[in-house]
Amino acid sequence: MKLDAHLAAALSNAQQHGLLRRAPEVWQRGAGHAIVDGRPLLNLSSSDYLGLAQHPALGEAAQQAHAAEGAGAGASRLVCGESPAHRQLERRLANFLQADAALSLSSGYLANLGAIAALAGPEDVIFSDALNHASLIDGCRLSRATIHVYQHADGHHLDELLRLHRTSHRFAWVVTDTLFSMDGDLAPLAELGQLCQRYDANLYADEAHAIGVVGPQGRGACAAVGVTPKLRMIGMGKAFGGGGGALVGDALTIGFLRQRCRPFVFSTATPPAVAAAAAAAIPLIEAAAEPRQRLHAHQRRLRHELKRQGWRVSNADTPIIAAIIGSAEDTMRASHRLIEAGVFVQGIRPPTVPAGTSRLRIVANAAHSDADVDFALRAFATIAASGGCT
Ligand SMILES: *Cc1c(COP(=O)(O)O)cnc(C)c1O
Repeated sequence: MKLDAHLAAALSNAQQHGLLRRAPEVWQRGAGHAIVDGRPLLNLSSSDYLGLAQHPALGEAAQQAHAAEGAGAGASRLVCGESPAHRQLERRLANFLQADAALSLSSGYLANLGAIAALAGPEDVIFSDALNHASLIDGCRLSRATIHVYQHADGHHLDELLRLHRTSHRFAWVVTDTLFSMDGDLAPLAELGQLCQRYDANLYADEAHAIGVVGPQGRGACAAVGVTPKLRMIGMGKAFGGGGGALVGDALTIGFLRQRCRPFVFSTATPPAVAAAAAAAIPLIEAAAEPRQRLHAHQRRLRHELKRQGWRVSNADTPIIAAIIGSAEDTMRASHRLIEAGVFVQGIRPPTVPAGTSRLRIVANAAHSDADVDFALRAFATIAASGGCT
């Protein structure tokens, strides 16, 4: 009973602090809209930035692969063999990102966990951005390397830490999100690339939110500034509109990971239909110049108008807009009021973000019309007018 008492206390403590999380039941209703707990809402929470999750080409590719190969992959690829869908996905990813090779896994989380744990060990050192995604943090811990956390997006601090600690270790890695998921800002990738060169370190870049959204043809934040990291993680659950994660890099590194990345070796391969849908998304992403323009026009307008309404909006130029409120309770109240007004915006609370920085996370979407953005802004204005934005 001791364990049960401990679990119950943790839950009731979270409830008292307004930190209990609950997933509403959501039906997607066309791109950019959703039915949330039975209520049709404009969806400003989805990372399906280009509205590809509902694209017929993805569904057709998935159905074909499903019909040809069945629902499941059957085992790990090294045990059961690879489906043509996995190979096609990896070829297309490598071409798209102008890299030698790619390795696909069943999620971005597993890709980060497996790659970092395989590439770094106890003799090595990892420099990790303070706001990195949980999967990067967990990968670093699993590697048993020495970890130094540098202040968020702070090249000076990283420089200092590299100077102090680099030489006492075998290999060094700098690990970062490229587009930070909860703040919406970009890592200083050009600077990180230079520091890696200067200190003989390797750059590991998680492009989960940037791929499809940033850079030429949506090739991500590294491509946008001409930096080629040692390894990139590509999430296929966001702008790709599907699911899965992939590691993209040089042939040697990917060849090594095929042998040593444990979530690749010891986990059942992604269902062929999932891989086929992800492969089908790539040409659509490359050709999505116009949706990307609309996405950025929407995010700029939302940022500008929300600021004018009095929201404390983060400074960045990406589709993820953080409106900082502070307390978890006030944040969830604002989120509920937006839902009542017809707009689905999630409140983000600790431990996802530091205490006192709870926020609304507003995500622009290319599938929205200008009228949709007007509608959202009217809902925000009503709440701001009654003091809901502080
Ligand atoms: C979503 C996300 C992941 C995890 O990807 P999944 O495919 O959802 O497991 C990893 N890193 C970052 C930065 C993310 O935003």
